[in-house]
Amino acid sequence: MRFVSTRGGDRASFAQAVRQGLAQDGGLFVPEELPDLRPHLAAWRGLSYPELAFRFFSLFATDIPAEELRGCIDRAYANFPVPPAPLVPLAKENLQVLELFHGPTLAFKDFALQLLGQFYGREIKNSGQPVNILGATSGDTGSAAIHGMLGQPDSHSFILYPEGRIAPLQEKQIAATGSAKVHPLAIQGSFDEAQAIVKQIFGDSVFSSAHALTAVNSINIARILAQCVYYLDTVLKLDVRKENPVEFIVPTGNFGNVLAGWMLGKMGVTGLSFCVATNANAVVANFFQTGEYRPGKVHPSLAPSMDIQQSSNFERWLWWHFAGDSSRVQSTMQAIRDNGHFSLGQAPGENIRAFSCDDTGIREQIARAYRDFHYVADPHTACAFAALEPGRRSVILATAHPAKFPDTIAAVLGIQPTHPALEALKNRPVVKQVLPATAAAVKEAISSALQ
Ligand SMILES: *Cc1c(COP(=O)(O)O)cnc(C)c1O
Repeated sequence: MRFVSTRGGDRASFAQAVRQGLAQDGGLFVPEELPDLRPHLAAWRGLSYPELAFRFFSLFATDIPAEELRGCIDRAYANFPVPPAPLVPLAKENLQVLELFHGPTLAFKDFALQLLGQFYGREIKNSGQPVNILGATSGDTGSAAIHGMLGQPDSHSFILYPEGRIAPLQEKQIAATGSAKVHPLAIQGSFDEAQAIVKQIFGDSVFSSAHALTAVNSINIARILAQCVYYLDTVLKLDVRKENPVEFIVPTGNFGNVLAGWMLGKMGVTGLSFCVATNANAVVANFFQTGEYRPGKVHPSLAPSMDIQQSSNFERWLWWHFAGDSSRVQSTMQAIRDNGHFSLGQAPGENIRAFSCDDTGIREQIARAYRDFHYVADPHTACAFAALEPGRRSVILATAHPAKFPDTIAAVLGIQPTHPALEALKNRPVVKQVLPATAAAVKEAISSALQ
């Protein structure tokens, strides 16, 4: 299977696309042609999660030998309970929660980043070259990336975050791993400054290639494909088809999670529809309601992992919407850069509706989920509860364990959710370097760690 850039200027095999992350022309990799899953669905029913993931990835990762692919997948999902993505029925018959927070960092990003870590590990072994991770995080992505790389040989992780501005538990997940190959860099500045430093360092291609730096971000195609698998697993378990439809309600900011499910429809799976559920950062929700995409200033919310205005995966959706016309993708992305917005002229329709929920709504929905369903929803998942429409069969995707946000839950419900993995972290020391918000300081920290 070949992968092409959404902007038309790059092509790659699966392994190359995974290694590169971003295409050379600045676009995102997408499979040149999506396979038709219909001939496989009957045989795939009842498979274990890793086996299903293996069969699915076999259609895309055609340049990775089957036994190596199987090894990567088995090791990635060995770090999850069985089943990795349980479906929990709520009091109402036609409502289920797909819990995606049982991985090592208790957030859905583990599904993608545990596997991506294995792919990088394979790359390191085969090439004899190190792969070092550099990224900025305001919360979940950094810890999920670190935990994906733990145990990979010849790999260091450098994660920048704004000093004093992330939740104490999140900092513990980044800075209390006890691994000498994880380098938490607490920047005396904002998240935007930390991110600007990362960009600056990648802009220095001499430095970044000399230190074998690879970006952590939401745009790697392997992440999207890994996320397809839990939708597929659910489709098979619930026997979803045209006569037996279901709506997936997906908390989102970067549009990565919902895009993965939506792609299954492009692969011949019928009966699927989606609801994009955002917090007050409603850029993507507004787009699906009106056709206008207008990113603005980030509003900090109670669901911080969705505090996003520039939705990077949106470009992939556009590529499919424009039927693979990369010049239209290019001109649209240019228009967004030049004018700050663009409009399709009408709501895109397709099979995606949208809903947004501010902090007041998030608190109300945490209370409501507990009252109506005896379910403790984290603030991200609460945005999906807000979007629920009575009368249709729905699956809510739960993206984080509520114990990651104990203060918000306690303020609403008066109970403190806990998780043994987080309790264990509480007694472990934070080990970090506090640095001024300059690229020079971060470069020096990287160079001296790798000496
Ligand atoms: C990252 C994240 C999201 C949003 O994911 P998208 O890629 O924007 O769809 C939602 N919830 C949690 C807990 C997250 O960590």
